[in-house]
Amino acid sequence: MNYDRYFDAALADVKREKRYRSFVTLERDASRFPHALWHSPEGPRPVIMWCTNDYLGMGCHPAVIEAMRDTAARLGVGAGGTRNIAGTSSPLVALERSLADLHGKEAALLFTSGYVSNQAGISTLARLLPDCLLISDEKNHNSMIEGVRHSRREKIIFRHNDLGHLEEILAAADPARPKVILFESVYSMDGDVSPIHAICDLAERYGAMTYLDEVHAVGLYGERGGGYAQEVGAAHRIDIIEATLAKGFGCIGGYLAAKANVIDAIRSYAHGFIFTTALPPAVAAAALASVEVVKSGQAIRMRHRAQVAQVKARLAKAGIPVLDGDTHIVPVMVGDAQRVKDASDRLLDVHGIYVQPINYPTVARGTERLRVTPTPFHDMAMIDHLVGALVETWNALGLPRVAIRSAA
Ligand SMILES: *Cc1c(COP(=O)(O)O)cnc(C)c1O
Repeated sequence: MNYDRYFDAALADVKREKRYRSFVTLERDASRFPHALWHSPEGPRPVIMWCTNDYLGMGCHPAVIEAMRDTAARLGVGAGGTRNIAGTSSPLVALERSLADLHGKEAALLFTSGYVSNQAGISTLARLLPDCLLISDEKNHNSMIEGVRHSRREKIIFRHNDLGHLEEILAAADPARPKVILFESVYSMDGDVSPIHAICDLAERYGAMTYLDEVHAVGLYGERGGGYAQEVGAAHRIDIIEATLAKGFGCIGGYLAAKANVIDAIRSYAHGFIFTTALPPAVAAAALASVEVVKSGQAIRMRHRAQVAQVKARLAKAGIPVLDGDTHIVPVMVGDAQRVKDASDRLLDVHGIYVQPINYPTVARGTERLRVTPTPFHDMAMIDHLVGALVETWNALGLPRVAIRSAA
């Protein structure tokens, strides 16, 4: 049997479609975020990161680094077991308490990652509800889709942010049947937001539970960084909030926050929670430090918004096509897999700017883009540099200056 040909054929497919992924090896400079060294084929070169999901630079915050270092020195490195067997460390318990408080919920539950929290959380929730109907936004993240699939419950997809379509589905369903509406607050590739209050209105009218992914909003929105639902005063209306510690909080791990009985039931039944080693205490301590810093003041969020607004205004003035949205995500549209790769390569090679191309299947074909994420630490000189580099790249490669809509 020649097994090689299957792997080689699969690789040839992604290469032919111009979406073979090459990773850029980086060495972040924690004392000079968002500076990094790129380990290029010709040796190390300084670059500015313009596509990090460490949206607030919290992964490089001195208090966060110190919490990890200090806790590792005192409590050791690994967790030493699952939550049930020796793995429930005191920093982890403190972190769950802090996250519940962040969202104004009774309890929170930590997972290995945001991905696992969605996959295990949604599938377990759905299996705890007899004959549950899952109603899911079409743009939901792959981890939510995997949670739905794994639940083996019936699912219906509603058109992205389409309240009319959502209501049709709710109205047609048996009123006695358990239903869960699954959606995100900030959609990470287009940078648009969902109508949270209106979705909660429908959920209340038709007796559905709500499950909200706040992965791209925690730390960044809300008066305490509790997410977009907190920003618009809707957090108390959401039954289950899911988020990550790996983006706005700059660490690793995912979680759910909800009523105590919901969390306790998921804790008791979710295989993706039960049968895996707990997060290490030093990771939990770092995340806790990050959450506490982010909770304690609006200054970092205000600075973040100011820098995002600057980038958007400057790109608009320069005629670089940016997808409209109300958030910190700045999608610069190219609309072709090869050309977005060329643009990204040129920005890195010629300008020392690192922004990764975003391709199918992450976004629809024909909507390939550079996803720019300004942080509070991108100063005016860096923004000038970015805009100049994009203009040079657009001219050199003859890239489109007309806006490309994101396919629904
Ligand atoms: C990144 C992401 C996740 C997964 O979070 P991780 O902590 O990175 O595993 C979940 N949902 C959305 C919308 C995401 O973008």
